[in-house]
Amino acid sequence: MILSGARRTLAICGLLSLAAFAHGEDNSLTRDVAIIGGGAAGTYAAIRLRDQGKSVILIEKEDRLGGHTNTYEDPVTKTHVDYGVVVFHDNQLVKNYFDRLNVSWLVTDPHFTSGSPVYLDDQSAKPVNYTSPDARAALQTYAAHLAQYPKVESGFFLPDPVPEDLLLPFGEFLAKYPDVGNAAFTIFTFGQGLGDFLSQPTLYVFKNFGLEIIQDIGTGFLVTASQNNQEIYQHATKILGHDVWTSSHVASTPHRRKEGIQLEVKTPSGRRTVKAKKLLIAFPQKLDKLKPFDLDELESSLFGKFMNTGYYTSLVKNTGLPGNFSSTSVGANTPYQIPKLPGVYAVSATAIPGVFDVKYGSPTGLSDDFVRGEILSYIKKLQANGFAEKVPGEPEFVAYHSHTPFELTVARDEIAGGFYKKLYALQGHRNTWYTGAAFDTQDSSMLWNFTEEYILPDLLA
Ligand SMILES: Cc1cc2nc3c(=O)[nH]c(=O)nc-3n(C[C@H](O)[C@H](O)[C@H](O)COP(=O)(O)OP(=O)(O)OC[C@H]3O[C@@H](n4cnc5c(N)ncnc54)[C@H](O)[C@@H]3O)c2cc1C
Repeated sequence: MILSGARRTLAICGLLSLAAFAHGEDNSLTRDVAIIGGGAAGTYAAIRLRDQGKSVILIEKEDRLGGHTNTYEDPVTKTHVDYGVVVFHDNQLVKNYFDRLNVSWLVTDPHFTSGSPVYLDDQSAKPVNYTSPDARAALQTYAAHLAQYPKVESGFFLPDPVPEDLLLPFGEFLAKYPDVGNAAFTIFTFGQGLGDFLSQPTLYVFKNFGLEIIQDIGTGFLVTASQNNQEIYQHATKILGHDVWTSSHVASTPHRRKEGIQLEVKTPSGRRTVKAKKLLIAFPQKLDKLKPFDLDELESSLFGKFMNTGYYTSLVKNTGLPGNFSSTSVGANTPYQIPKLPGVYAVSATAIPGVFDVKYGSPTGLSDDFVRGEILSYIKKLQANGFAEKVPGEPEFVAYHSHTPFELTVARDEIAGGFYKKLYALQGHRNTWYTGAAFDTQDSSMLWNFTEEYILPDLLA
């Protein structure tokens, strides 16, 4: 709609007075909800709350929204490669969200895969005699186990007492149910980032590789039509406008109580005070990261129990590998031939000729220098083993990103002792709510659903 001159002046005056209302006399910013962390969950919450009439501020420490989304743009061809988040679930909530953001989407063919990889020894990168088993029947049996816990699909809503099967290390679960064994490698491959997969309580494997994933393997995943997932967050940033502060973080929390929240925020243009009725914390809830939020004893005792895995992603060029090269690591003498970690999960060709995606995982966090060194030394093993043509110079990173801390888990005894019941009881405590992977799972679509169903109703009340 185009406004005439006088009406435009009136409209601008109105906007200015609204802005004055939002910025207090003391230059503080007043909002219904302050959201910390602009990854999948925090960005979704900001858009949905704003669309339903709440004022928000979204505070993100990086210079862009998107969290685990990493998109590389080739400077010459402008081709995009998503080397972080790739696929979404084909469900109505995801479609509605993409439509709201004006992001075009499509559904992939069933059995979405990146081709037929060569299987290589996880240590030596030499070819191994491995044939991927037909996982279909085993996946059906696995799905039947999942179906016994329908509420686990949408959150840590566990039966009480917690069933023994969910507590068993996944390796023991597989030993107890040998019919699932042929699916172990497929589940491991999709569930990258879980660290020492066979030692993790089965609960975390069920959360990471749930019924919706199995369904989408059969019918197709939803992807952005542009194959540029950063577009989701670019559009969200535009819609949210001044309600996003990037390169910003909370330095301290003068109060967090029933009457409201006050945060002192470090931004590129200086310190700002944010006053909000409610607070939503949407970044990985590790104790050290939560320090500026003035935790009480209960909060510290629960968040202090989280352990984490390490997960790293990169794009490497100047390797000499053939354009269609794709490899998957396999353990030589390990159960189900699951590779030992820390190590490279897989190397895959991308849409940019000569650029390869390399994923690396670890049971615990590692230094970036160490991981970068390990990835390059793995590429050199591939070269030495004859997979690559000779090229002048060394392999080089065109992109590298640490996603650590990745999976947040607690010990089996904690799960059995009702950890997740206690964790979920924190929602609303001191006017603070929580979302993100530690509260549900490492899956953007599932997190949007969790945030919509279990968090937004309280924030909208
Ligand atoms: C390599 C990789 C591939 C993946 N592939 C897929 C996939 O194909 N499909 C899928 O659904 N999921 C995928 N995932 C998982 C998915 O990315 C996560 O489930 C999802 O991003 C988690 O969202 P989140 O909001 O909990 O956390 P994040 O996306 O990690 O967002 C947290 C945000 O908080 C910010 N932050 C941290 N600390 C602070 C602070 N103190 N102050 C302010 N901001 C802070 C971070 O910078 C980040 O932007 C993948 C993950 C990785 C690492």
